[in-house]
Amino acid sequence: MSLLLDARQRAMLEEMKIRLFLPQAQFADEPALAGEPALAAPATLAEAPVRARAPAPAATMGPAATLVRAVAGPRERLPGIAAMEWEALQQAVAACRACKLCEGRRNTVFGVGDPHPEWLVVGEAPGENEDLQGEPFVGQAGKLLDNMLGAMGMGRHDKVYIANVLKCRPPGNRNPEPEEIAQCEPFLRRQVELLRPRIILAMGRFAVQTLLGTTEPIGRLRGRVHRYNDVPVVVTYHPAYLLRNLPDKAKAWADLVLAQSVMRAGS
Ligand code: URA
Repeated sequence: MSLLLDARQRAMLEEMKIRLFLPQAQFADEPALAGEPALAAPATLAEAPVRARAPAPAATMGPAATLVRAVAGPRERLPGIAAMEWEALQQAVAACRACKLCEGRRNTVFGVGDPHPEWLVVGEAPGENEDLQGEPFVGQAGKLLDNMLGAMGMGRHDKVYIANVLKCRPPGNRNPEPEEIAQCEPFLRRQVELLRPRIILAMGRFAVQTLLGTTEPIGRLRGRVHRYNDVPVVVTYHPAYLLRNLPDKAKAWADLVLAQSVMRAGS
């Protein structure tokens, strides 16, 4: 089998530490990955009810706090968030108390990057380092993401904006819960509207399934172009997953090639 790779493609392979390239056709029949199961249920705005937050224990409350505090659901919050400009949106995220994740966070993680990006990378949620630093993808997975972006001639502040589905860290790095996703999704939706990227790279099942409103596994969504609010979306594996499943880096590389071809076709 002969591999016709140009200099950029070779550089991408090198950056991602991929030694063997398998053409995409060979992946077509692969099953969905065990490490990337489907979400139990997609987080849709319609599903999330207005909920009453349980009161704090009586011993820690003053008299006024004995009332149950109603927290607006995503449907109620959506119009306000949808009208926000960038700075107001940042402030709303920083002050958000719409779900229980606010109780354990050290920092919200709004996003980082070029304010006029061509690419929007969407990940899952802050981990421990991101929660500490208030910036997405700063750990090992972040290093791999930076390498992937570098292989395409971009950096996290150059042509790219990086955001997560959740702006607060789930405790113990557990998976995001549907209600948390539903409460946070209006922020991401508004980020997309304001950033107006030319392409979205959705990394990992929570990003993919939230943006596409589906429970299909990544293995069945890869290799074609989807849409989110009219913006083309290419899906791929999460960098943290790729660190644990090195052979799948070749698939991620194929996904980046697809995303680049979408960009080229649109320019
Ligand atoms: N994983 C993510 O999905 N986002 C981060 O910011 C860090 C790790």
